[in-house]
Amino acid sequence: MQSFKDSILKLITETSTNLPPDVRYAIQEARLREDAGTRSALALGTITDNIKRAEENVSPICQDTGMLTFKIKAPVDANQIEMAKQIRQAVKEATQLGKLRPNSVDSLTGENSGDNLGEGVPVIHFEQWENDYIDVRLILKGGGCENKNIQYSLPCELEGLGRAGRDLDGIRKCILHAVYQAQGQGCSAGFIGVGIGGDRTTGYELAKKQLFRSVTDTNPNPDLARLEEYIMEKANTLSIGTMGFGGNTTLLGCKIGSMHRIPASFYVSVAYNCWAFRRQGVTIDPETGAIRDWIYTDDAVPADAKDASVVETAEEKLGGRQVVLTTPITEEQIRDLKVGDIVVINGLIHTGRDALHKHLMDHDSPVDLNGGVIYHCGPVMLKDADGKWNVKAAGPTTSIREEPYQGDIIKKFGIRAVIGKGGMGAKTLAALKEHGAVYLNAIGGAAQYYAECIENVDGVDFMEFGIPEAMWHLQVKDFAAIVTMDAHGNSLHADVEKTSLDKLAELKEPVFK
Ligand code: SF4
Repeated sequence: MQSFKDSILKLITETSTNLPPDVRYAIQEARLREDAGTRSALALGTITDNIKRAEENVSPICQDTGMLTFKIKAPVDANQIEMAKQIRQAVKEATQLGKLRPNSVDSLTGENSGDNLGEGVPVIHFEQWENDYIDVRLILKGGGCENKNIQYSLPCELEGLGRAGRDLDGIRKCILHAVYQAQGQGCSAGFIGVGIGGDRTTGYELAKKQLFRSVTDTNPNPDLARLEEYIMEKANTLSIGTMGFGGNTTLLGCKIGSMHRIPASFYVSVAYNCWAFRRQGVTIDPETGAIRDWIYTDDAVPADAKDASVVETAEEKLGGRQVVLTTPITEEQIRDLKVGDIVVINGLIHTGRDALHKHLMDHDSPVDLNGGVIYHCGPVMLKDADGKWNVKAAGPTTSIREEPYQGDIIKKFGIRAVIGKGGMGAKTLAALKEHGAVYLNAIGGAAQYYAECIENVDGVDFMEFGIPEAMWHLQVKDFAAIVTMDAHGNSLHADVEKTSLDKLAELKEPVFK
């Protein structure tokens, strides 16, 4: 087992930096389906670009490393204690190399362990089997999509769809509702794994297990195969679109599994995964620990989609206005912007996530934020030999988490623009209008794309919050994002949510008797 640790390090690096062919294929199909010149088409173009850059740079596709979850099947005499030890070492090394963001936080103290190790993490599930090789699969599932997982206890009443009973049609309604409630916040277009039955814990486990299936496989259970096909068709009529911008593709994959339950409980559990569906797998020789094969090579995928780069389509250009702004930004410049404008930012911006927003409520900012831009982002940073910080990945994080603070922070510090993804709520929208600010939606997961817009790291404050939560001061050039909430009370997110609820209601009538 001498090479086992190195094999796992390769697996982690590949998972973090290179999407498997079945996922690339699904994204490519979505791109071809989307109407040219729309916001969703632009987002898919950026996503495609980001996938290529991540592979070329061998850098994280998304800055959110997510929860590392290993699923391992091993022969009876393979030493699981030794494998777990080597996996932990490989995780530590991958973090030091900048392939993973330090993402493990003590739930009580908030302290970041700095190496992705900690109580219960990484998650490692072992199973014994009678084959003569080890099968190791890894998924990196980020927080934005993890927070959109949902579990239903049937029977229940669902917004737009009415009663969902304890039958296949009730399950159908739950899955459609799960896609609807995610909107763009889980970085749609997404992939879902569904677990029917079990208890609350095993239901979610079963749902996540479905994400290890190939996107192109067919469910061996004909009822579930039919349901998967139905969901793929109808979820894509909800007009949520990529990043929740509206559009023809909302869902890229749906895999459903079923297990027995107890009579009193009937759960439908849904694991939502973003487009950055980072899961890979290898088979390993139990004697040497060396990799024998990569698992997700997927023969069902056309050859051109397996290629290192996703098939090229014409460069996407969004119709509409493009406005270049240099920080600090004036109120007049902000009031001139409307939902749908593309804003290209140059100058200094500042990252801020949960810890910073909470802190700023009761404290001063270490830098002047008047006319400034806050970027909801927890980057992957690496120090070079001269002690200079380098940005390895820097896409937006889910903004709605800052909803309780954002309006007050805008008012207190005179912030003019907030960049994030997934949109914000009514309180922030009111603050944008009252104080003259905008919300700019960057493309979630496009961590390489945005990292390349950062010309310099001017400094950092609050390193005690850990790298993702610290306040990084970044000089950017040509940082593009779309106005989705303006200073006139308009919100694209509210509009898309309303439209998709209307479309969801059209699917209320029973389909599976
Ligand atoms: S693509 Fe979005 S949801 Fe997925 S890990 Fe990245 S930030 Fe999170």
